[in-house]
Parts: sequence; structure tokens; C-alpha cells
Amino acid sequence: MISSRMHSMELPRKVVVGGEILESVGEVCLELGIKGRILVVTGSKTYRVAGKAVLDSLADTGLEALHIKVEEASEKAVRKTEKILRDGRHSAAVGVGGGKVIDVTKLASARVGIPFISCPTAASHDGIASPQASLHDGESLSSVKAQSPLAIIADIEVILKAPYRLLASGCGDIIAKFTAVRDWWLAHQLRGEYYGDYAANLALMSARLVAGNAKLIREGSEEGVRTVVEALISCGVAMSIAGSSRPCSGSEHLFSHALERVAPGKSLHGERCGVGTIMMAHLHKLQWRRIKAVLKMIGAPTTSSELGVEGVDVVKALTIAHKIRPERYTILGERGLTRASALKLARKTEVI
Ligand SMILES: [Zn+2]
Repeated sequence: MISSRMHSMELPRKVVVGGEILESVGEVCLELGIKGRILVVTGSKTYRVAGKAVLDSLADTGLEALHIKVEEASEKAVRKTEKILRDGRHSAAVGVGGGKVIDVTKLASARVGIPFISCPTAASHDGIASPQASLHDGESLSSVKAQSPLAIIADIEVILKAPYRLLASGCGDIIAKFTAVRDWWLAHQLRGEYYGDYAANLALMSARLVAGNAKLIREGSEEGVRTVVEALISCGVAMSIAGSSRPCSGSEHLFSHALERVAPGKSLHGERCGVGTIMMAHLHKLQWRRIKAVLKMIGAPTTSSELGVEGVDVVKALTIAHKIRPERYTILGERGLTRASALKLARKTEVI
């Protein structure tokens, strides 16, 4: 008998990856049937490196565009953007930036019910292609379902010029899929949660590709950057197929969020995820030494000091990680780690 359980997937319709492609944003919009006014959202820096080119491209194709800048990924910024989108009767929103701009534009456009186009200026995390958005409000961090980008336009030239640290952080977010998929499988086995082989394998393939190309990535070559960008896009698509962030976010992400709460603003999302993956891989009895070696080769942090935090911060984060998102079952279980076991884990994996 066919199961009556419905599973719906929302996928990007167009993905363009290449050099000097920002001038094609206008054409892509026309191809996708977007008419009327378009809102272009950037940060201050991303306006200079890419936003201006996007606005020029829209003007060249005769599309009317309005430009705003956002500086933080907060509920306030989302509401403000949402209001501008509604008041101006915009028909699409283009986010040009790294993390914050993409998150705000994605969520605001989803609430208004218009398409979102993602133009990443750095390859620092998988939000550039995922349906999820992360908001920071004071102490709290929340990940909410927004919408998949209708199109992703990733200019390799712009991403190549971004600081290498951002790319290395993106690699940490991708390597995280090794443990995220294990946690998803565990939740399926123990909790009967939906598990999709295709989405799981797509996320794993990205992690394997980045691990296998670590040296190339470290060299900062165009090919290396392309590998990371394509892997991040595949991770975003894996989430779209799964209908949740499950294939891409497990216990290592819980650790990352917990550490950000304990010692805010010291490190990047993907950097913390990478270190979390080393420790969670040990709990999952995966090859944590190999994961650590890959991160080292890429030049991503593998220790507390490289993350700019104290050993006690890591231990504290390990003990509270399971409370960050209690509905997300992982290897940390319902009770999490005791202080003693957290200390042992961090020492054993030489994170502290
Ligand atoms: Zn992530």
C-alpha cells in the first residue's frame, strides 16, 4: 500500500555559478518571468563589491529597482524590509551579501510571498542556497524556515576576493554534514523521524568532495572556490529536498549555537561547526582524526584557542548544547553531556 504521508520539496529553479556574472542578474530575472519593481538588499561593503553591479544590471534590462542596506540579521531588520517590500509592491527581492543580508532578504520575501534571489558574496555557510534563515536577537539565535531561493547567482570572482577565512568557515559548515547525517539517521532509528536517503547522500557527497579537495581549496584556486560554492549549494538543495535542515545540521550545529551563546562574537558559524564535528565524530565513532586533519589542511580552526575562546567555554557549550533545540534529537540525547564527559571529550580530541 502507498503511504499517505505527503512530502513536498521546494527547489531553486536556476543556479548560475561563474566569473563576472553579476551583469546577468537582470537577464536571469527576465528569464524567470519577474516583472515590476525589484528590491536589492545589500550590506555597506557588499554594495561596493557586488550590489552596484547588480543594480546596474537590473537598470540595463529596464527593470525598476530599489536599494536598501541592512546591517544585522534581527527580527527588526526583517520587519523593516518586509514593510518596504509591501509598501513598494515589489515583485521580487535580491539579497547581495554574506550571511546577514541573505537571511533578512530570504525571510522578509517569504513573509510577503514573493521570490527571493540569492547573490552570495562569500562562501561562508550553506544559507546561501537553503530555505532556512538564522536570526540573532540579543542572546537568542533562531533558525526558521523561510523559502528556497528561486535563483542563486554566485560570482566566483567576487567570492575569490573575499577573505580566505570566510571560505574556510564555509568548509567547516560542509564538513559538519558527516555528523549531521549520522544524527539524522539516529533520530530516524530511535524516534521514527522521517529520513531521506537522497537528501542525506547529497549532503554527504558535499562533505566528501570538500574533504577530498582540501589541498586545492587551501591554495585559494578558482577550482577550489568553485568546489566549495557548489558544495554549499548542494547542501542547500539537500535541505530543500528533506524539507528541513536535518541533513545539514546535527549535534555539531547545536554545539556551534551553544558556543556562540557562551562566548558570543569570537568565531564564525562554520568555524564552530567544524570544531563541533571533530568532537561529535568521536561520539559517533567516526574517523574524527581524519576530520581534524582535513580541517587543518584547509586552514580552519580545530582548537578552542584557534576559535578565540577558552577551554572552559567549549566545555560549558558541550554541556548545554542539547538544550538549544530540544526537538532535534542527536547523539547528545535528551540529557546531554555531564561536565566530566564534556571535559574528557574536548581533551581527547585535543580541542582544548
Ligand atoms: Zn550551518
